Amino acid sequence: MTELAELLRDAQRVVAFTGAGISTESGIPDFRSPGGVWTRYDPREFTFDRYVESAEVRRNSWAMRTELFDGRPSPNAAHRALAQLESEGRALGVITQNIDGLHQDAGSRKVIEIHGTMRDVECIGAAPRMGTPDGCGFRREAEWVFALLEGGQDDPRCPQCGGIIKSATISFGQMMPTDAMEEAVDIVQQADVVLTIGSSLQVYPAAEIPMIGKEAGARMVIINREETPYDSQADLVIHANAGETLQRAVLD
Ligand code: NAD
Repeated sequence: MTELAELLRDAQRVVAFTGAGISTESGIPDFRSPGGVWTRYDPREFTFDRYVESAEVRRNSWAMRTELFDGRPSPNAAHRALAQLESEGRALGVITQNIDGLHQDAGSRKVIEIHGTMRDVECIGAAPRMGTPDGCGFRREAEWVFALLEGGQDDPRCPQCGGIIKSATISFGQMMPTDAMEEAVDIVQQADVVLTIGSSLQVYPAAEIPMIGKEAGARMVIINREETPYDSQADLVIHANAGETLQRAVLD
């Protein structure tokens, strides 16, 4: 039995904290690895304010989204292992920085999406300020906007109020949703094991969440291909692929 399997054997309240690295084995590139998204797009272009100001940024943003998530990726063993722990009644849920919806596809029921979801789009108003969306409440599945883009509209507008349409994700410079963050802090404080999977732990305030669990008494496990700034504080660190690691520890 692997060290991780042993640690999980007695766990009753696992909380997973996941980042882009849990989905690379499903074919979705992460931000920081070689070949990752930011080696091909300029991150300074994708702030909330730039999105509001520039139709060109909005067009590039839709193009990036189409490229990244084309072909409906499927969950991998890491997503499935977390869903299985929850169905066995041994996990409280998943806190994810990801926007891809793969935890839900794998069967996880309790998923806190602190950076929103790319599966939906919403109106953010005509001229929102201070990183705060100011929409009329219009929200649809992303397919709605992709049909408009394919039909030749390159900067779709809200059919209710004419506001700007944006993916229901949190951009750089955009206010974090307070409800999701509060829920994440609450659930991680109840954990007996916090499994941090595929996150460089460099995006704040999200990166602090596993340590909040650790300080409340949980054991902290980090599964990541490369080192993170929190490795020295973890009870177990595994530098390996998340899917293979969780396949062996949970599914086999
Ligand atoms: P990140 O890109 O900063 O870090 C990903 C980490 O995962 C890296 O340290 C890398 O070494 C590791 N990794 C890559 N593949 C792995 C694998 N198979 N197994 C184990 N580790 C692996 O990602 P982050 O920490 O999530 O933060 C960046 C932001 O990226 C988040 O806010 C998130 O919203 C966004 N993002 C999401 C997606 C997605 O939804 N799938 C994709 C790209 C970026």
